[in-house]
Amino acid sequence: MNETAHPEIIESVHRLLDTIPEGVTVVAAAKTRTPAEVDAAIAAGITIIGHNYVQEAEQMKPHVKGEARWHLIGHLQRNKINKALPIFDMIETLDTLKLAEALDLRCEREGIVLPVLIEINSGEEFSKTGVHPDAVDELVGSLAHLAHIRIEGLMTMGPFTGDPEDARPYFRETREAFKRLKSLDQPNLQLKTLSMGMSNSYRVAIDEGATLIRIGTALFGPRPCAV
Ligand SMILES: *Cc1c(COP(=O)(O)O)cnc(C)c1O
Repeated sequence: MNETAHPEIIESVHRLLDTIPEGVTVVAAAKTRTPAEVDAAIAAGITIIGHNYVQEAEQMKPHVKGEARWHLIGHLQRNKINKALPIFDMIETLDTLKLAEALDLRCEREGIVLPVLIEINSGEEFSKTGVHPDAVDELVGSLAHLAHIRIEGLMTMGPFTGDPEDARPYFRETREAFKRLKSLDQPNLQLKTLSMGMSNSYRVAIDEGATLIRIGTALFGPRPCAV
């Protein structure tokens, strides 16, 4: 592999990693990118690759040479669980009891405990998936019996574009839910991760307590089409 194939990506990664505070980790959002672009990001210091689509990640991953952990950051359909498990180290988008039970069953068969985040729906304009912030406590409580998933935190989308300040109330709401959940004592709950913020909003997200930021455009450049 020629790691200098994408000097602009390497530069963008370095610039971003230099400016974010300690304790914040970047997930490189890789949808629509090539394996070589992803490898450039990893060579520059990215440790987590995020992908929205199981099928595309399955095709991409064997061609990515760099070592990284992989996170599913798009919606997971139950009929894709078997495909998703060998690819992803974390599912960031768990949002229903039904999906959690299906995941737990497969993980039990595999003999693994899978780290997951619960996706919070911060307004239907941005995402149709995710659990409403007022309902997350009940959802998490209902997952207490699942021994093969480990709930490590929350994820939220927020607005994709526009004034980054527009995202602040959604990030704040998610952080409030995170704080509330911390008082729950439940064996499969180990809260440490708050995944919020994208290219236009990550500074606000970090302000509001994000520990994971999911960045595509600011690392790889504009996507060929709006996805
Ligand atoms: C595409 C995507 C991102 C990154 O978006 P950018 O604006 O390109 O940084 C983050 N999270 C999710 C879930 C995405 O689909």
